[in-house]
Amino acid sequence: VKDQGKNNFAIYAPLTSDPSYEKLALENDLRKALQKGEFIVHYQPKINIVEGTLSGFEALVRWKNSTRGLVSPGTFIPVAEETGLIVPIGAFVMKEAARQMVAWRQAGLPEVPIAVNLSTRQFLQSNLVQSVESILKETGLPPHLLELEITESMTIDLERSIEILAKLKKLGVKISIDDFGTGYSSLHYLQQLPIDRLKIDQSFVQNITVNENHAILVATIINMAKNLQLSVTAEGVETEKQATYLQKQKCEEVQGYFFSRPLSAEEIEGKYRELIED
Ligand code: C2E
Ligand code: CA
Ligand code: CA
Ligand code: CA
Repeated sequence: VKDQGKNNFAIYAPLTSDPSYEKLALENDLRKALQKGEFIVHYQPKINIVEGTLSGFEALVRWKNSTRGLVSPGTFIPVAEETGLIVPIGAFVMKEAARQMVAWRQAGLPEVPIAVNLSTRQFLQSNLVQSVESILKETGLPPHLLELEITESMTIDLERSIEILAKLKKLGVKISIDDFGTGYSSLHYLQQLPIDRLKIDQSFVQNITVNENHAILVATIINMAKNLQLSVTAEGVETEKQATYLQKQKCEEVQGYFFSRPLSAEEIEGKYRELIED
């Protein structure tokens, strides 16, 4: 037995200014947040730019904590991903979004799909397919109205990705590639993945009116999607100029602050009041 401790001492910096302490505290609060019901889902409308109609929603998680305030997903998703907490949080978001869509559908909102983001951990988790299946069953959401958004970086292991996606497709849900253009997928990859939609990353969309290369890139992605018989969405549309360009390029679906920010369920109900009965 080693003699420990006797002459060992360390001087610690005040705990609260220690970044690793900050992270631990965040992890701790995050663990409790699920039980405390601190997560809420906001919904960003997606618009069919040809018809000018609502074509879907994207579910975006929010964390409302009494001391931290409203924490953005950019802050807590990476920590949730690292700790594995993203799996139960992700399941909560999917279930809540599915439940909400069924309720809105019954209240008279047009039958449009709801898109839910998957994290890497969720995507690679062995019971993802069962989890999606049981959420569809529990909520009664028709499978074709659920879109799962994944990113190119999750599909590095092509064979495994094809296997997972094929199982999800068999359930009847749709698959989108989010942040498209920021990863490294080649055409070879794209052709092999059983996907339904490309979402052009907002960094390209926001620059189409100031950077000709980005305008060309966006037009190229739209045409490529069409040739591969994939749907295409441009996200992060903030100005009328951008919207007009996307319309000219025949990008069918758009999403962004120009049309609507992500809104709470109550705000969505206010916005589409004429379509929803109380
Ligand atoms: P994302 O999936 O690419 O979602 C789009 C983000 O862009 C959202 O930020 C949205 O609010 C924002 N956005 C939408 N339109 C515009 C626009 O016109 N201009 C600008 N500047 N931004 C716009 P948010 O809600 O903060 O989410 C950030 C990221 O966090 C998401 O990026 C996604 O990767 C992740 N995330 C959000 N909710 C979930 C979730 O439930 N599960 C997982 N795994 N990740 C999530
Ligand atoms: Ca997304
Ligand atoms: Ca995105
Ligand atoms: Ca993203």
